[in-house]
Amino acid sequence: MSDLSVVHTTADIRELVGEWRAAHEVVALVPTMGNLHDGHLSLAQLARKTADRVVMSIYVNPTQFGPGEDFHAYPRTLAEDRELVESDATVDALFVPNDAEVYPFGTEQAVRLVMPGFANELCGAIRPGHFDGVSTVVCRLLNIVMPDSVMLGCKDYQQLKVVERLVADLHLPVEVLSGPTRRHADGLAISSRNRYLTSDERRHAPALHATLKDVKAALEAGQVDYQQLEGAALTKLRAEGFKPDYVEVRQARDLARPNGQHAPGELVVLAAAWLGKTRLIDNLRV
Ligand code: AMP
Repeated sequence: MSDLSVVHTTADIRELVGEWRAAHEVVALVPTMGNLHDGHLSLAQLARKTADRVVMSIYVNPTQFGPGEDFHAYPRTLAEDRELVESDATVDALFVPNDAEVYPFGTEQAVRLVMPGFANELCGAIRPGHFDGVSTVVCRLLNIVMPDSVMLGCKDYQQLKVVERLVADLHLPVEVLSGPTRRHADGLAISSRNRYLTSDERRHAPALHATLKDVKAALEAGQVDYQQLEGAALTKLRAEGFKPDYVEVRQARDLARPNGQHAPGELVVLAAAWLGKTRLIDNLRV
């Protein structure tokens, strides 16, 4: 028998977390949009190493989707998600709020955060307002759950950096932790959106990771002409049938453009590319 709690309201999750805190237990939050997979579970397992209790939230946040994006099509699989979490036994509570719980005044009348700078580059340039929506919901989830730490995946590297900035700039009393990207055996990063791929697209999809690996190898071999590397990667992706949004080499710390000199670990190469109707993102630290 699993003793997973599934709660839907702010009052209920606060009561549960309040009991744990009263017992001096450390609480971690793993926010997700559901359709759970090994990547999500790996974050819960990592969170578990630093916390006595792990809360996983499942909420498909409307304010981070732009017009014409896949908000309505996004897979909602709560029954399967619950089974997966129960079989893994790492998560103590699933928090599954509805829109009214997260946005009590509605999304139109919601207080919204506006993120500066790098939140409007890379994916933020292609998806205007996306990271404002991400910050808006993460801030709400942190205020509702009040965890000691929040665990995010490096898979969404820009999102991780945005949340780090959000927490630092608003003095939110929470520690931001991150876990590595889990991949299929062929290199494709595990993602809820992979299910949109046709079988033919699925065969080509690992080329995204392979292309990033090529850029990483060139950088490690000492190449510093980032534009040339980015251009070669775009060409390779197009040859594989992708429509790339971007491939960019950035500083890992703050996503600023690097200036030519870098020590190991200081860079990240990020890409977003369409394969048919599916937009895939990935990145590698260099
Ligand atoms: P999502 O449900 O896609 O919003 O993702 C929820 C969290 O899981 C985010 O912090 C993601 O970065 C993380 N995540 C998504 N895919 C993976 C993966 N393949 N490996 C590790 N973490 C992931």
